[in-house]
Amino acid sequence: MYSTDRALQIISIQHELVMNIGLDLKLEKMLNTFMQRALQRLSLSSVVLMDFNQCELTETPKTHSDGNLYCYPQLSSDYKRKLVEDAKSFYYQGEVAYSCISKQSCHYYFLKVPQFGVLILERYATEIDEVILAALEPLLIKLSASCKACQEHQNLIKEIEARKFAEELLIEQSMLDPLTNLANRKKFNLDLLKTLSSSFTTKNIGAIFILDLDRFKVINNTLGHAVGDDVIKIVGKRLQECMRPGDTLARIGGDEFVLLVVELSVDYSIAIEKAKKIAKKLAALIASPINIDGNIFSISASTGINMFPVEADSVLSARQQVDVIVQNAEKAMNAVKQANRNGYSFYNKQLQSSSERKTQIEKYLKTAIQNDEFEVYYQPLVAVDGKVLGAEALLRWSNQSLGRVGPDEFIPIAEESGLILDIGSWVLEQVCQILSSVGSNDALKYISVNVSPRQFIHHNFVDSLLSALNRYCINSRQVRVEVTEGVVIDNIDLTIQKMKYLKDKGVVTMLDDFGSGYSSLSYLHQLPLQTIKIDRSFITDIDQTSKNHVIVDSIIDICEHFSLECIVEGVENSDEFAYLATKNITAYQGYYFHRPMPKYDFITLLEH
Ligand code: C2E
Ligand code: MG
Ligand code: MG
Repeated sequence: MYSTDRALQIISIQHELVMNIGLDLKLEKMLNTFMQRALQRLSLSSVVLMDFNQCELTETPKTHSDGNLYCYPQLSSDYKRKLVEDAKSFYYQGEVAYSCISKQSCHYYFLKVPQFGVLILERYATEIDEVILAALEPLLIKLSASCKACQEHQNLIKEIEARKFAEELLIEQSMLDPLTNLANRKKFNLDLLKTLSSSFTTKNIGAIFILDLDRFKVINNTLGHAVGDDVIKIVGKRLQECMRPGDTLARIGGDEFVLLVVELSVDYSIAIEKAKKIAKKLAALIASPINIDGNIFSISASTGINMFPVEADSVLSARQQVDVIVQNAEKAMNAVKQANRNGYSFYNKQLQSSSERKTQIEKYLKTAIQNDEFEVYYQPLVAVDGKVLGAEALLRWSNQSLGRVGPDEFIPIAEESGLILDIGSWVLEQVCQILSSVGSNDALKYISVNVSPRQFIHHNFVDSLLSALNRYCINSRQVRVEVTEGVVIDNIDLTIQKMKYLKDKGVVTMLDDFGSGYSSLSYLHQLPLQTIKIDRSFITDIDQTSKNHVIVDSIIDICEHFSLECIVEGVENSDEFAYLATKNITAYQGYYFHRPMPKYDFITLLEH
């Protein structure tokens, strides 16, 4: 019989041990608490828990945390190997709840932790009381449940972590530009949004730099898209050199990059000076020669810079501000493009008002045809003897609110907005009308019409031109089409196809403003062209001493070589004409001969 004290002592051990099971959801931590307490309360020399579900029994686990063998205190490898073997033979003995092996003065107790493993208690000298062993039995059920709960919890955490990692990877990938591995527009907008929010509190001024590579299409069209891709990758790598921690570099379009630079300074003028330095560094990085498979070439970029935060924008939501900051940097970048490219420009109020004017122009252009605000002027083209050969149709616009607006200003807006399609058809109609009213006239071989890129690539362009000629019974030789190099570069295959079709139908295509834009020679031989108009910038002040004469003479030689007609535009004085008159030029155009004139003045000129 046991005394009451003994019974209370057993209950207290049982209670204390049970209270220490399942105190933590981390298996090792939970076992640490429980097993340390068992070690103490049961006067053990070691306690080991072996997880049979996961323990590779043929292998010897190395430490208590490695291999699902949990030992307190640490045991030697040989010792553990022996224990594993003994535990294994005990585990497969069937229904036995516990067994004891005594070696010299050491007693080992193997207790089954149901559906989990084996708990091994080691005690020197005295044996553990059978009653205590029996009292441990319900504990083992709880221990098993707790161990399994911990494992499930850990597996769940692992699963959640793996899922989270996969999701993060997916998000990261959706934020990356696959070609350069830089951020994409989405990621850039997010980073700008974050920076913007913090810059309101820190008052630190940041900047964005939008860079668009100049004439990148020439590389794509002449060297192929694979080389184009390589160039983009090289530029992306180089631009990374300008990044500091916290900055973001993104590719936001075919050849468009944007750099977000954070925390330049709290002082506006210092921030501007720093931004200028960065812009110069970016330009220098891009400018160093690129070598791809032995092709060495140089490239440049137009950069628009916008500083933030802007006080005036604080009425807008943060997201709206992000859009405005980017749009304004783009405006600054476009201003650089228009002003001869390769440089940088800050967004400023002037650009703001020019964009407001653009909006006004677009608004009034929409109703210009129905309000009868357009008029076509004609500028004669003359032979070397001054006789009129043909004319160029040049559009004029006069609006009540805006006054006279030049085509250099409104045509790009019409092009951008798509209004050029209707305007172009209207111009063509006017040209057909005048041609049909002057009839076949020896003095007027043709009138040329400027066709903008958007008009030219429109699928219906050639057919609507031919049908207009048909309606007015006009010979296809009487209307010529002027396209700029921009059309060719943007869509080389389509341009060739359309030019061929026009040629087959008897319509001559002229390449306008030749030499002003792209490296023209690279594609010239591919085009079914009949005429080239040399850009007027080469004609200004031309004489034997000017540098331009070398360019003009070479273009004339090329025209001879390819059997192309050569026309010069912008002849303004007798000196320029004197130089050009000795050259193999088919027609001359310029203020020296005639300015663009209204329809009736032109008809009168033809009649005399
Ligand atoms: P463009 O096709 O190169 O037209 C020649 C421009 O040079 C005309 O400017 C003409 O007035 C000007 N010009 C001619 N001779 C001289 C000269 O001796 N000195 C100077 N300084 N300028 C001269 P304009 O009429 O202002 O037209 C500008 C541009 O607008 C045109 O350049 C053309 O690209 C575009 N454009 C004009 N009308 C139309 C049109 O109906 N449709 C399209 N798509 N574009 C048009
Ligand atoms: Mg023209
Ligand atoms: Mg021209």
